[in-house]
Order: sequence, then structure tokens, then C-alpha cells
Amino acid sequence: MALQFLFRYVLVWFAKYSFSNLYSFKVDKVSFAINFYKEFKGRSMSAMKNLKLNCNILNVLDDTFYTLTKSSPLENPKIVSVNTILAKEMKIDNDILNSEDFKNFINGEYICEGSTAYANAYAGHQFGHPVAQLGDGRALSLGKLNTYQLQLKGAGSTAYSRRGDGRAVLRSSIREYLMGEAMHGLGIPTSRALGIISSDTIVLRDHEHEKASIVLRAAKSWIRFGSFEFAYYSNKQTKNIRDLADYVIDESYPHIKESKNKYKELYFAIVDKTLDLIILWQSVGFMHGVMNTDNMSIDGLTIDYGPYAFMENFNAKSICNTSDYEGRYSYENQPYIGQWNLSVLAKTFSVIADETIMENYNNTFIEKYKEKYFDIMSKKLGLVSTVKDDNGLIADLLDVLEKAEIDYTPFFYYLSCDNKYEIKRLCTYEKDLDTWLTSYEQRVTKQDVSKEDRLKQMRTINPKYVLKNFMLQEAIELAQNDDFTLVNDLLKIAQNPYDEHKEFERYAQSTPKNVQNMLCSCSS
Ligand code: AMP
Ligand code: MG
Repeated sequence: MALQFLFRYVLVWFAKYSFSNLYSFKVDKVSFAINFYKEFKGRSMSAMKNLKLNCNILNVLDDTFYTLTKSSPLENPKIVSVNTILAKEMKIDNDILNSEDFKNFINGEYICEGSTAYANAYAGHQFGHPVAQLGDGRALSLGKLNTYQLQLKGAGSTAYSRRGDGRAVLRSSIREYLMGEAMHGLGIPTSRALGIISSDTIVLRDHEHEKASIVLRAAKSWIRFGSFEFAYYSNKQTKNIRDLADYVIDESYPHIKESKNKYKELYFAIVDKTLDLIILWQSVGFMHGVMNTDNMSIDGLTIDYGPYAFMENFNAKSICNTSDYEGRYSYENQPYIGQWNLSVLAKTFSVIADETIMENYNNTFIEKYKEKYFDIMSKKLGLVSTVKDDNGLIADLLDVLEKAEIDYTPFFYYLSCDNKYEIKRLCTYEKDLDTWLTSYEQRVTKQDVSKEDRLKQMRTINPKYVLKNFMLQEAIELAQNDDFTLVNDLLKIAQNPYDEHKEFERYAQSTPKNVQNMLCSCSS
């Protein structure tokens, strides 16, 4: 092995030095020996050598889809948190996670075998307007590891940074790191993250100095609706769209590989996955905040966490992004925007499949959404076999939640515990709630299932905890002073949202008035 390494080292070294110093080619034997020893010792001792990545995508797609990019590490990186649960799933040993090189890896300094860093190009519709050239302005793809595509978010500028600095601030990185796990814990498809570092590198946001950070994020796919838009605008339109579609089928929809009309089938499957995702968002009261087509995953994942929020006091018109002046991405609009984005995707697919057939399929989106929404809300209420009037019961409840200003998550949780005392403590105006609770009581007692079984089932779908913005903010404020305990506590809560977390009982209550419905902007 040492011989093999020596041979490779000599080759690389020879290539490096002979090009840079072609005419005055001198061999400094001593420094060669020292460097060789250091590199060989470092690599062979590091547990990291077992992490082997694969960048197959670079051989499949046209090189206009990406730009090879070098990372720009942060100063004095510090581990904020490492996600041991995801690491275990990805078969990454603890000695790797605990190694200095793993921190260097998150900081873009350690390059794993098989990894080539690149930034993806894509296009997109931002707030409804087409933008032909976007791309990962601050994310570097590193390759695939055990079915997850790894990316460093915040590792410096890329060919697509436009006026941005290629950095991500600690605040938004913590939000992204934790929310991936929170969504996963709730059973909602999402990108996740393996780890996060803070640093002494300072960047400017809204005239404030903030700490820069990097998140090592992981997703089954980072292809976006906007990636297809990029291919649509490209010179080799048909070839690029077909190559991208074939790649997506291989990676995310292998079951349709042999279908006769595989591109139409692919489109249908993307519609279905997107619908299933948005149903889940609505059911837990999640608002993404920036459903631009470049933030829509081709694999039905929640990606690009920015100014998102969980619904607190229920209001269907809630807008969580302070930059969304018209409420395009409000809670109640999410399914309609999902459908709109799918229609943009159908346009790009029209090069390889029948647009009318795809549009017709997409036209059934809202009808299917309503049915599935009804099903999932019935489950939340513990209704086993649904009856005609249940639609009314659900609509009335949403009305009551809004009028009585009731916090969405604790309401369903306490309903699942049959705890009327706590339910009433959640609202400012009880009368309508009382009426609704009486009809609900009458409805559930009619069904052929014991109360105990009903409540048990309800507690599997109604979490006790979601990560509300004020909770994240508490963790962020401590983390700014290098205290990462609450980030790691929230990680545990996020990963086990249905469990008891005795010391964090207060997070299962209504959000305190002074920090209710905190909003974020796109700036991060
Ligand atoms: P987002 O709304 O976070 O999905 O970002 C929209 C686009 O802006 C993406 O192409 C990002 O890569 C890019 N972007 C956002 N912030 C920065 C930054 N600080 N530096 C470079 N690019 C950025
Ligand atoms: Mg984005």
C-alpha cells in the first residue's frame, strides 16, 4: 500500500512541479521526503480515508450544468453539532465523526477520495419571474456517499454567486441544520445535514457583522425544477433535458426506467411526490416561505430552508417570509404554488413528452390535494371510517382555531391526550371551541373503536414538538457565544418529536405572546 501511495504521490507531485517549473526543474529531496511522510501519515492514519465519494453525475451531464470549484475554508472552525443518527444511517463510524479531519472536511479542507467539488447551475422562477441563470451561489457538491449527495453550504463563492459572498451565517445554518432533522423526525421527505461548524470568519448581513458557518448537508437528490429550466434554456435543449431526465430516473425513480413513456411517467411521478410533500407540510403547519422553482426538489424533498416557520396561532393566510409582500407563498397558497411550479416543469418536459397530457394530469392536483388533505386531517382527529359530515367538522375546526387564536401543534397534541383543560388554556375565546368540541365528542363516540386506541393512533400523527422560530432563536443566541448545548438539545427534540422531553415541557405549550409568530427575511 505504501508503494502504491508513493507511486501516486510521485505522479501527482511530478505533474504539479513539472508544469509550474518546467525549465528550472529542481528536486528538493528533503522537502519532498517531508511532504511525502506528512501526507502519507496523515491520510493513512485518518479514519476519514474510509469515506469514499462518487461523482458519477459529472460523467453523465453536460458540463454546462456545473462548474468545478475550490472551497474557501473558514477561519478557526468549531464543531457546533454532528448528526450521529444520520451518520449511523450513512454507515459513518464514530471515530470518523470525532476526528479532526471530519471538522476539516466540513470546512472544505479535507478532500475525500473520489470527491470533486463543483457548483450546480440551474435557472428558476423567483416569485413568479423567470431567471435564466441561477445556480449554487454558496453550495459546493462533493459527491455521493451511501445514496446521499453531500454539499457544503457556505464554503465560498462560486461561478453562480452573483453579488453574494458565498457564505452562510451561523443563524441560518443552524436553522437549516435543525429543520432537516425536524422534518425527517415528522416523517416528511427532506434534505438533512451531517454536521455544522461555526468560525471566526465574519460576514456582513443587513449592515450587521455575523459569524459565518458551513453546513454539511445531505440529500438523495439536489436536482431542482430549476435544473430542468436551465436545460430548457440551454443550446443543446433536447439532449440536456433527456440526459437530466434519465439521470433523475436512475437516481430517484428507477421503477419507471423500463416504462414505454418513461418521461411522461417521470413527470406524473414528480407531480405525485410533490403533492404528497405539500399535504404533509399543510398537516403539520409548515410554511416553506420561498417556493421558487429553484427551491423545488425533483425528488419531492423539502429543500433550501430559509425563512420557513411552523404555524403557531392558526391563520390560513399566514406569511412567514418578510420579503413576500403579496403573500405568494402564504400557508394556504402552498398547494396552488406547487401546482403552478409543476406547470413550469411541464413546459420544460414538453420537449420530451406530450405537454397536454402532462398539463391534464397536473390539472387534477388541487382536487387530489383536497381529498388527501381531508384524509390526513381525519387521521389527526382520530376519525377511522369517515362520514359525509366530516368535511364540515374539519372546516369548522379550522375556523375555530383561527377565531380563538389557537396554537396549531399543541391543540392537536392535547386533543390526542384528551386533555380539555390544556386545550382551553390555549385559546383566548372559548365559546366556539366548546361547541366544536361537543360535536367532535359526539362524532368520535359513534365510531367502532375504543377511546384508548383512538388516542394512541392520534399520538402517532400529532407531534408534541415542532421547532418554532422562537425556540431556534434561543439556540442561535447561545450559539453566537459558542454555547452549542441548546442546538444539540433541539436536535434531540427534532429527531423525536412524539416523545416526552421533560426538561423542555415549555416548548410543547402555546408560544409565549412576546415571541409569537416570529418572522424571518430571505437575508441569510
Ligand atoms: P435561496 O433563496 O437561499 O434559495 O437563494 C437564491 C439564490 O441566491 C441561490 O442561487 C443561492 O445560491 C444564491 N445566494 C443566496 N445567498 C447567497 C450568498 N450569500 N452568496 C452567494 N449566493 C447566494
Ligand atoms: Mg435556493
